[in-house]
Amino acid sequence: MQALSDTMTAALMTTPGGPLSLADIAVPQAGHGELLVNIEVCGLCHTDLHFWKGDHPLPRDLPVVLGHEGIGRVVKAGPGVSRYAPGDRVGLGFVYGTCGHCRECMSGHETHCGDVASTGVHVDGCFANYAILREDWATPIPEDLDAAEAAPLLCAGVAAYSAVRKARIEPGELVAVFGTGGLGSYAIQLAKLCGARVVAVDVSDEKLAHATSLGADHAVSALGDPGAEIQALGGADACFNFAPVSASWRQILSAARTRARIVLISLPTEPLSFEAGELIEAGLQVMGSADGTRLELRQLMELASAGKVRSIVETVPFADINSAFERLASGSVQGRLVIDMR
Ligand SMILES: [Zn+2]
Ligand SMILES: [Zn+2]
Repeated sequence: MQALSDTMTAALMTTPGGPLSLADIAVPQAGHGELLVNIEVCGLCHTDLHFWKGDHPLPRDLPVVLGHEGIGRVVKAGPGVSRYAPGDRVGLGFVYGTCGHCRECMSGHETHCGDVASTGVHVDGCFANYAILREDWATPIPEDLDAAEAAPLLCAGVAAYSAVRKARIEPGELVAVFGTGGLGSYAIQLAKLCGARVVAVDVSDEKLAHATSLGADHAVSALGDPGAEIQALGGADACFNFAPVSASWRQILSAARTRARIVLISLPTEPLSFEAGELIEAGLQVMGSADGTRLELRQLMELASAGKVRSIVETVPFADINSAFERLASGSVQGRLVIDMR
């Protein structure tokens, strides 16, 4: 292992929407219970884009280092660390840490903790050569997983995994996935692993073809009448919304079968409306889902290591990080972009 230098290159966000500046800054220090990680790759997520554009305010002063789908190796363990050592391969996800003692933390719903800190938001993230990770929140990364393919599992993948778990899918059920981009492409594969028949719904023919290649049994255009087409297949027992538009909500209600579970993940730009009777008479269950827990992250990594979950990624050199942000903002990206820091 190389001697640790005092400085590193980091992509600094200095103004909202402005180009990130690749600058040399001090390598952060691992405090009590923390690990210093040499970052190999970090996925670029839409949440990074929202913070970069200023859609979501950052809770601290600029400059900040974004990036929360990081994979690397521990190079230094801070005081009090007991479970990791230099050389261990770990993942850094969106949750940097939670309080650890509230009702949500104690009941295994830690991502709903009221005192959650996020990587790349409350603390500097992984678009840098090194980043800090709390030992308690490290995800072990199996050695057989490709770093670039594993990176998006840390946020996009686990968000889909947690949503699919909440829907309690049973074999043979019909599952409708609305929006088949990054998160949706994981949900298709995970619903198939539950033994479901999967209907992919999207406005893009290209994304529908991609959904079919990932195992979707049916592909339906969101530009037509997906509710009627899904009812013709028997109606959906579970629906997932990964499309950030309110239009999909009416389509979901018309596609749902009696007692369907509806899981909302993406944030539509407008409020959703419904008559109470629509939910009451059909006994529909509507729930929200965000992020995923540490346990879910470990389960997902095991599935990926067993070859059961695939990521479609495009790797971009660190020097081209600004073009990656621009391309994601323009909506022209198929699959997930992963920045290579090596
Ligand atoms: Zn993310
Ligand atoms: Zn808590």
